[in-house]
Amino acid sequence: MNCKDLLLKLSAEHSLSAGDYRYLLDARTSDDEAFAKELAVLLRKRIYGSAVFVRGLIEISNICKNNCFYCGIRAANTNADRYRLTPEEILSCAEEGYRLGFRTFVLQGGEDPLFTDAVLCDIIKKIKARFPDCAVTLSMGERPYESYAVLRKAGADRYLLRHETADKAHYERLHPKEMSFDHRMECLRELRTLGYQVGAGFMVG
Ligand code: SF4
Repeated sequence: MNCKDLLLKLSAEHSLSAGDYRYLLDARTSDDEAFAKELAVLLRKRIYGSAVFVRGLIEISNICKNNCFYCGIRAANTNADRYRLTPEEILSCAEEGYRLGFRTFVLQGGEDPLFTDAVLCDIIKKIKARFPDCAVTLSMGERPYESYAVLRKAGADRYLLRHETADKAHYERLHPKEMSFDHRMECLRELRTLGYQVGAGFMVG
């Protein structure tokens, strides 16, 4: 099979053998890359049409206890300018966002120990009470199952947790030894079990 045939197969079946992926990476031409983009656009249009989905992202804190090697706000980076929004500031961002037409709010932060379950639940409940037609997404990292459960009960609809890379050895090269690939995957499974809409994802480059 040549690259174009492999791309058609990938588009239809969503997966190739490791050997086929390697062949594609090694033998592709700029024409093949353009063809891959065309196929991706066709698939995207089939599923989403031409709509644009807009999310109101509220970066609630850049304080994090972790040290992922690639991250600008890792705990060990003493040059980062740190901040944490108060619950009132977060609600005021949501208010402004609602006025501007946003109907999904993403509360995103590092793994900041001050955003306890009680603090987050209170914020989620207030957002859902004031804006019942809005979805709340959390992007607050790895937490215990019980924490995911109470946040869901408080009204959180979605959870964003990038797995960063699906290869365990690669994951271990990008993270300090305190962090675990298996635990991250377990968190994703738990979120699914609890009925969240889950967003995962990997880094490129
Ligand atoms: S957990 Fe997230 S915010 Fe914290 S260091 Fe890792 S990538 Fe950065």
